[in-house]
Amino acid sequence: MKVLVIGGGAREHALCRSLSQDPAVTELHCAPGNAGIAQVATVHPVDQLDGAQVTALAVRLGAELVVVGPEAPLVAGVADAVRAAGVPVFGPSAEAALLEGSKAFAKDVMAGAGVPTARSYVCTTAAEAAEALDAFGPPYVVKDDGLAAGKGVVVTSDRAEALAHAGACERVVIEEYLDGPEVSLFAITDGTTVLPLQPAQDFKRALDGDQGPNTGGMGAYSPLPWAPEGLVEDVLATVLQPTVDELRRRGTPFSGLLYAGLALTSRGTRVIEFNARFGDPETQVVLARLRTPLAGVLHASATGTLDQLEPLRWDEGAAVTVVIAAEGYPAAPRTGDPIEGLAEAEAADGTAYVLHAGTKADDDGRVLSAGGRVLSVTATGTDLVEARERAYRSVGLISLAGGQHRGDIALKAAQ
Ligand code: AMP
Repeated sequence: MKVLVIGGGAREHALCRSLSQDPAVTELHCAPGNAGIAQVATVHPVDQLDGAQVTALAVRLGAELVVVGPEAPLVAGVADAVRAAGVPVFGPSAEAALLEGSKAFAKDVMAGAGVPTARSYVCTTAAEAAEALDAFGPPYVVKDDGLAAGKGVVVTSDRAEALAHAGACERVVIEEYLDGPEVSLFAITDGTTVLPLQPAQDFKRALDGDQGPNTGGMGAYSPLPWAPEGLVEDVLATVLQPTVDELRRRGTPFSGLLYAGLALTSRGTRVIEFNARFGDPETQVVLARLRTPLAGVLHASATGTLDQLEPLRWDEGAAVTVVIAAEGYPAAPRTGDPIEGLAEAEAADGTAYVLHAGTKADDDGRVLSAGGRVLSVTATGTDLVEARERAYRSVGLISLAGGQHRGDIALKAAQ
């Protein structure tokens, strides 16, 4: 199978790494890719938001499967363009990707499907926002309605800050605060059949102890030893399947990756958000544990044949990923700094590997930082203690001027 992956972050590097290890994959391409992806796939300089460019590339390469990684191309209709050319695509239509692209749409779908989520109001004026904030009380949760790369949400007990965020966005969703631990559960779907993956947890705040600003994610681990038994089956029955059924019923079937961000509250499991694609950095740890070759699973989603797939096989062990971010991330990341120690980090033991997020190679072949999140250092082990040790040992061997990472990824869960 010839496969083309769209995107250029650590998620796409993880996807490409798994696809490159799948014996069914005869050619692997990625656009635009990054310096790490270039080691396992042929990279192509393409505007990933331009459906015509991506389609032309897919057709020229004779791709038999296109995998769209990030949300922005999905919301821009890139999957639709490729599909219209007759190429199987892993990723939802623009209409179905609104599940992520509009928080208000997602709330409407959840209401229709009877999926448990935070009570909420959609507000477009300061007066509406103030009323909604006072209806729920602190802590306040204010979400930009549109795509914001994980940075459109403000959770604060400061009413003025909540109001200011609402004022800075055109349309916001204001909702009740959900307590309890968060879980990310991914499912592969073809619009009818839903195949949940293993749950993971990510770390959204920039600093240890969940301090500092929200980020795209600073690390993740899987499995979750503390999660209640039956969690996956429960979420499949109460969240994932009803959502997929509701979208099909509305005439906007969702195929691709349905990501449920969940809060396990004292009153039960609630959906915090849906995403329409693999989450980054959870993908790094979920794929690290998936034993079933990936291409066939994604192809079955793209061709509506998931019901014929064998049950997925998983590694019983654990996986941890630690993100190394640039100085100044998330507010104003500095780019262009050389990265050293990559080979040493991978040689440190048999299981750790470095997934590239924001990197590029310069003319001399040196790897430079080229984004806010720069690397995602991933390792597996028999348990979280071992996977953490291995991941952090490799992190310690990498040097990036001003680079920052959290020291407490998976720490509590490993204890
Ligand atoms: P989202 O982009 O919707 O995932 O929100 C980003 C982060 O904000 C989530 O991972 C949560 O940590 C937090 N958050 C979002 N909604 C709520 C809520 N209703 N209650 C508490 N925290 C929330």
